[in-house]
Amino acid sequence: MDMEREVIEFDVIFVGGGPANLSSAIHLTNLIRQYNEDIESGKLQGNQIDIEDKIAVLEKGAYFGAHNISGAVLIPDVLSELLPDHRELGCPIDAEVTKESMYFFTEQGKIKVPFIPPFLDNHGNYLLSLSKFIGWLSKIAEKNKVMMLEGTAAVEMLYDGLRVIGVHTDDKRLQEDGEYETPGYILKSKVVVLGEGSSGTLRNKIVDKLHLDSNRAPSIYEIGVKEIYEVKNNPLEKGECIHTFGYPFRKGLSGGGFIYSISETQVVIGLIAHLSSEDPQFDPHRELQKFKQHPFIIDIIKDGKPTHYGARTLPCGGYFSVPKLTSDGVMITGDSANLVDSRKLKGIHTAIKSGMLAAEVLFEAFKINDFSANQLSKYEEKLKNSWIYSDLRQSRNFTPAVAMGVPFPGGPLLGFQILTGGATPIGDLKTKPDYSTTKDIKQYYGERLPESFPKADDRIIVSKLTDVYFSGTAHDERQKSHIRLKDEAVCGKCISDYKAPCTLFCPASVYELEENGIRVNFSNCLHCKTCDLKCPFRNIVWNLPEGGGGPRYTLQ
Ligand SMILES: Cc1cc2nc3c(=O)[nH]c(=O)nc-3n(C[C@H](O)[C@H](O)[C@H](O)COP(=O)(O)OP(=O)(O)OC[C@H]3O[C@@H](n4cnc5c(N)ncnc54)[C@H](O)[C@@H]3O)c2cc1C
Ligand code: SF4
Ligand code: SF4
Repeated sequence: MDMEREVIEFDVIFVGGGPANLSSAIHLTNLIRQYNEDIESGKLQGNQIDIEDKIAVLEKGAYFGAHNISGAVLIPDVLSELLPDHRELGCPIDAEVTKESMYFFTEQGKIKVPFIPPFLDNHGNYLLSLSKFIGWLSKIAEKNKVMMLEGTAAVEMLYDGLRVIGVHTDDKRLQEDGEYETPGYILKSKVVVLGEGSSGTLRNKIVDKLHLDSNRAPSIYEIGVKEIYEVKNNPLEKGECIHTFGYPFRKGLSGGGFIYSISETQVVIGLIAHLSSEDPQFDPHRELQKFKQHPFIIDIIKDGKPTHYGARTLPCGGYFSVPKLTSDGVMITGDSANLVDSRKLKGIHTAIKSGMLAAEVLFEAFKINDFSANQLSKYEEKLKNSWIYSDLRQSRNFTPAVAMGVPFPGGPLLGFQILTGGATPIGDLKTKPDYSTTKDIKQYYGERLPESFPKADDRIIVSKLTDVYFSGTAHDERQKSHIRLKDEAVCGKCISDYKAPCTLFCPASVYELEENGIRVNFSNCLHCKTCDLKCPFRNIVWNLPEGGGGPRYTLQ
């Protein structure tokens, strides 16, 4: 049924309020403010740029920061470039990294690596909560007169031919008569900046529609799961940062672990696992619980209790997988642009920098009143000439080498990369989309049985549902499920051959195996996007739910 929708006109709409787009909005408005002041003082000639009610940021989380999760170690240089006075402005830094180490874990033992590889040297970097950081950045954007629309999801792009002309926002609260209490808006704009984070929904649609990824390597992903523990006798120093490899990773499942002490009493424990796992019973949440049973970690959390949880994918295809990032009326920033440096395990700094470069191109566009595809494409030139690309080039073979297994056979390839700036003796390593790598139960397990797992005690071994509670996740039930299974018959085949991987890889127990098939508990969804990427049959369609639902992260 067609609904009356209000139409509002903007110059720039930022979709997604993460570090990429908030930095972009702040940088753009700072550049324009300085330009207007210079014109007013006579230092420059020209017309002032009016941005009142012309620039908006749309964020689907209930508040800015609600959906943002990270480790988070931030390389501060780029923040100093964006906001030189960030400390005076009250940037919520929990600690600076003062002590760091790296271990190879076996199931019960550990070997300390005698040196920290240069790309993981975090000394002096900031430890912070991304959700708090985003809350803080959003206030700065708001002071700069950016219209901040939280609880608002952009659900479709609007086109005139192939030119993007705006977005359509979410309809809210489905009534019994099939009408929505609050219909979404038509937001028109000269440019839409997509900074939706990892595997963004509108980003994926436009990449497919305009073939922005032709001749590029596939976008591939990792999932990060993390818990925060409140501990009584923290043996770690505030600001201590530990990285691990080895256990619980094994053949067919690769990744690494991290332990960050963010205060005298709070420790972050997390894992980053490649979605290229071959194991049809891959369950990142369970791997996190196994990781915490290592004696080294038990020693840290034994008197503690879990308080926060979250999960999110992050792109790790890097250099070879970056799609074309501009087209008529649109630019793509941050994780949506695949700019994570997986070797450094970091993407906040590249997200911020990409947002700033996009802002500089938009600022020029405002000055010369030219928002054409040609003008926007200057963003890609700037990115290619920036340190983001030279860093990504050095990381270009990192993920596939780790996925081969560390220390062997991937370790020597990683050593070769350090010596040569990213090359391998066997040429550039190829990757496959994550959905295609899962083996069926027979192929992967043969005669073995998938492992069973000790019962949760919700202290050291936390159940998924308790962790969903710790993430604050909920969705208004007066809406259609935002998750759709394309074909239930396909699920039937998958249940018999693969034992329904979605019931395990989803870090929030959204998918449940029932007698008649798969039940979808959409309300638990953390918006991590794993199911979008890892269902072996690509049988899941993840649409944007009503804004305001999803996790309510506070410290993640
Ligand atoms: C567990 C984990 C640990 C990590 N550790 C580190 C680390 O230590 N250091 C580091 O630098 N990086 C780390 N990263 C990576 C880092 O968090 C990301 O690279 C960074 O957050 C990317 O920023 P972004 O702005 O591109 O996307 P995001 O931070 O994901 O923000 C995107 C925003 O867009 C919103 N959104 C999406 N679609 C829509 C829509 N259609 N409408 C409205 N809103 C929408 C989302 O709700 C979200 O708030 C880690 C990631 C994870 C998951
Ligand atoms: S949704 Fe995908 S992973 Fe889940 S049972 Fe169906 S086909 Fe298998
Ligand atoms: S349903 Fe999909 S997006 Fe939601 S938490 Fe599960 S895997 Fe993540």
